[in-house]
Amino acid sequence: MPDPAGPLAPTQTAEPSPESPAMLCESCGYDISRTAEDAVCPECGTTIASSLPERRDLSVRCRDWGEIARQVLLAPRSAMRAAAIGDVRILKFGLFAQIAATLLVTIAALAPPLGYAVAGDRLQLIFLPSLSFVLFGVIWLLTLIESVGIRFFGRQRGWRITREVSKTVCSLASVGWLVGACVCAVGCIFLHLGFMQELNLIDSRHTPKFGIIGALIVITGAIIGLLYFELLVYLGVRQCRFANPPGVRRYSAAGGSSGPARIQRVDSEQ
Ligand SMILES: [Zn+2]
Repeated sequence: MPDPAGPLAPTQTAEPSPESPAMLCESCGYDISRTAEDAVCPECGTTIASSLPERRDLSVRCRDWGEIARQVLLAPRSAMRAAAIGDVRILKFGLFAQIAATLLVTIAALAPPLGYAVAGDRLQLIFLPSLSFVLFGVIWLLTLIESVGIRFFGRQRGWRITREVSKTVCSLASVGWLVGACVCAVGCIFLHLGFMQELNLIDSRHTPKFGIIGALIVITGAIIGLLYFELLVYLGVRQCRFANPPGVRRYSAAGGSSGPARIQRVDSEQ
């Protein structure tokens, strides 16, 4: 699959500044910006090393977007846990997954009507491309609503779900839309068979009602896409609720600092 951005190395991090968010234990959210890297979290005992932003290396490990999709499908928790927050490559991947899902359904819905159009039914040629815009709009809007929603619920629970975190999680979770689109595409093929039954191109006396089967598969695909997306967002939020972005504020073990000695409230960093 195309991937113009290329991998983002974990060393490409911004310099910490006083405004940078404090480094948190990714397991419990405790401020560990002053804890030595070889120590453990004073609150829950998790190693500090496992919360370092450099450990979020999904982009580095995956050569292309296909591999990112495979990682999210096969091991969603570890993929979300390894996603660098605000990684441009992951955000582009999310857009790619949404466009791919739209194109898949559009092509499955459009291809046979091109044949019908030759037979004189040109109405479908106008109708189906606009279906594509509506479909992409729906997917994009639902993803946006989810992104805003998890930030809202994150605030309620004292998690650090920033705009970058919600975008990163929703981008990876967009693989769910792609899975639903694959099912919808199969449903579209059955819809065409049903349409051919209506035109008496297929003997409908000895075959099942393909139109009804197709409609049921398309509806099921839409539900699967939505539920899969929601499930991946849920798993992603669990893995990224205290995620440390690149350039997070932390202090050296020798006592030097890269920012003021203040403890930031988790729920104030939005
Ligand atoms: Zn902890």
